[in-house]
Amino acid sequence: MMWNVEEFVRAAGVTVDELAAYVDESQRGVAPVIRRTPPRELAGRLGLARWIREGGMTPEGYAEFLRVYLAEGTRLHHPAQLGHQVAAPDFPSALADFVHGAHNNPMAIYEMGASAATVEFEVLRWMLSKAGFGEAGGGVLTHGGSLANLTALLAARASAAPGAWTEGVPGDLALLAPVSSHYSLTRAAAILGLGERAVMSLDVDALGRIDVARLPEALERVRRAGRRPMALVANACATGTGLYDDLRGIGEFCAANGVWFHVDGAHGASALLSEGHRHLLDGIDLADSLIWDAHKMLRTSSLAAAVLTRREGDLDAAFRQRASYLFYGEQGFDLIGRTVECSKAELGLKIFLNLAWRGERGLGEYVASQYATAHRFWELARERPGFECPYEPESNIVCFWYGTGDQVGIRERLMDDGAFHLTSAEVGGVRHLRITVMAPATDDKTLEALLDRITEPETTTGPR
Ligand SMILES: *Cc1c(COP(=O)(O)O)cnc(C)c1O
Repeated sequence: MMWNVEEFVRAAGVTVDELAAYVDESQRGVAPVIRRTPPRELAGRLGLARWIREGGMTPEGYAEFLRVYLAEGTRLHHPAQLGHQVAAPDFPSALADFVHGAHNNPMAIYEMGASAATVEFEVLRWMLSKAGFGEAGGGVLTHGGSLANLTALLAARASAAPGAWTEGVPGDLALLAPVSSHYSLTRAAAILGLGERAVMSLDVDALGRIDVARLPEALERVRRAGRRPMALVANACATGTGLYDDLRGIGEFCAANGVWFHVDGAHGASALLSEGHRHLLDGIDLADSLIWDAHKMLRTSSLAAAVLTRREGDLDAAFRQRASYLFYGEQGFDLIGRTVECSKAELGLKIFLNLAWRGERGLGEYVASQYATAHRFWELARERPGFECPYEPESNIVCFWYGTGDQVGIRERLMDDGAFHLTSAEVGGVRHLRITVMAPATDDKTLEALLDRITEPETTTGPR
């Protein structure tokens, strides 16, 4: 049952070789970006039932398995990967996942991983300083943005209703959010015991951005309904459109009215690292809480997300069960008092190794470059007849519309032969096509090819 270290070295070598070939092929765009093999067929091709029943995999059998496994998945490094907001991971973070897999230091308590906990702590300090929260802020890494939103709102709940943890949730709390906010916020409201109906919509413009001038009315509506605001949520940026809310305007309103200001920066907080884009987050330092996904624009694998609060004590108050305190003393510190998870992965290492390899500057340049490529798509699409773009993109997310027909049908056609992976989203109640430029391999040629394929009559293409 102990490791055969020689076999491990051979199997790890296979992994490296197969992954290198896979990423190389993906980046060059020579394989389909996505295959849509039905699960039953795929299970057969991978020999899953047999492996489970009989075991006995060797490095050779594993190589064959891995090749099919990788090829049948969705290629995030492919230039035509324009689908979801999932990173094309950079290799330093991939190494961190590998290390964690063997090292396995679930470091929510310091004694279960001193180095992992210290790395997380320093990564958080860096993120806090980028957000302008500085030394007074608190943070924790968690498994994804949805859990991060839940954690941040739990801190907001503790602030609005300190007795909620022991006595239950008072019935008058409200969460103010634009309809464009991520669904995890409504879910969080339900999980936190507020109930979905406690989510009250903020007035937005035609593109789903919070209308700052109408915030006083929204607050008035909440009060007239006999409720009090637990938190107000702004997007930085919105998942659907990639547009940023006016954080300064909203933050000043919240500060003046004593409302907890939560910024959902899952996707767009990484723009803090780009000199040319930092202005999009102007006013972020006014937030009481912020979430920031590293597995989106900091190029780590899923999942690694930060919950950051402007005042450290707010985060410690979120989970009331015997708060464990964070201190940098001789015994180290326990992060377990700040997370839903008990054990958790070495998330800090993923972020740290990307930083250590590329530097803060390199990651900022990546963000700038992806945002620029998306902007270029907007320019190219606008020049072509039949394309409409409802707004100028601010990030690497662009929504557009082609022709007069069914937009979802266009998406299906492009994905069916594995040529492109893109998504769709509603803007102003109308379903649009949507691209997210995540892969560094995506260039002007890809964008032109996408526009060509969209305009091609359906009959000239068949499955490859
Ligand atoms: C992606 C996203 C989330 C959810 O993050 P996960 O890590 O997928 O759970 C929340 N909010 C926004 C704005 C997002 O873009």
